[in-house]
Amino acid sequence: KLSFRLATVAKYVPKNARLADIGSDHAYLPCYLAKNAGIPFAIAGEVVAGPFQSAERNVLSEGLSEIISVRLGDGLDVIGNDEVDCITIAGMGGALIASILERGKDKLTSVNRLVLQPNIGAISIRKWFFENNWELISEEIIEEDEKIYEILVAEKGEPSKPYPPKKINQGLLLGPFLVQNQNQIFTKKWRLEKRNWQRIVSQLEGAAHTTETIQKKQELLGKIKLVEEALDGEE
Ligand code: SAM
Repeated sequence: KLSFRLATVAKYVPKNARLADIGSDHAYLPCYLAKNAGIPFAIAGEVVAGPFQSAERNVLSEGLSEIISVRLGDGLDVIGNDEVDCITIAGMGGALIASILERGKDKLTSVNRLVLQPNIGAISIRKWFFENNWELISEEIIEEDEKIYEILVAEKGEPSKPYPPKKINQGLLLGPFLVQNQNQIFTKKWRLEKRNWQRIVSQLEGAAHTTETIQKKQELLGKIKLVEEALDGEE
């Protein structure tokens, strides 16, 4: 019943985790973990009333109300002090996930693992880890229903550890572990991104050359270069 995407997130939640799943929607992930992985406690957080009610209904009908507390609120606001040691946030943009973590920083003292699944913009999360002493310990890139997703796992530690010193920008964009163990999905994603950026670059070349378009073009050419350097044996 759980999607392959959420099952991949679930794999990285420790068996005894006290979990907060933020933006839980139907609460599928905490319900699955309570039933199949034996986690003792979870908060399902939602900021929108509709999904919050659907989470409440599911938790009740699965008979999991003793384990899962469904709460309405923004980001990490739903977490009490020292209540959880693991947080999952899945199915949103990377910039939004990073902003939720940034705004909820004071709730992270008791947390020792973050499992995050950005739909786009994983770079924002890797940068946030880097700036906040979280160490990326594992990454996956998967495909389901023709969509590509990345899963990032971090623990408190030495943020620069997974990054080869001269390849920090490449690592932030593409993922240091994903670059090291390139699979077909990785190659597919970055070939597509590269083609897309190249198309925009040629459009910009036809447009008026303002400071803005010149900057945008430089930025895209920089990213294209990072991708080309990472994709083994590509020009
Ligand atoms: N996590 C589920 C999954 O991966 O299948 C649901 C993903 S759904 C696309 C994103 C959910 O995050 C929505 O239900 C939305 O209401 C919720 N959300 C967005 N911003 C939020 C925030 N700041 N705090 C809590 N929930 C949020």
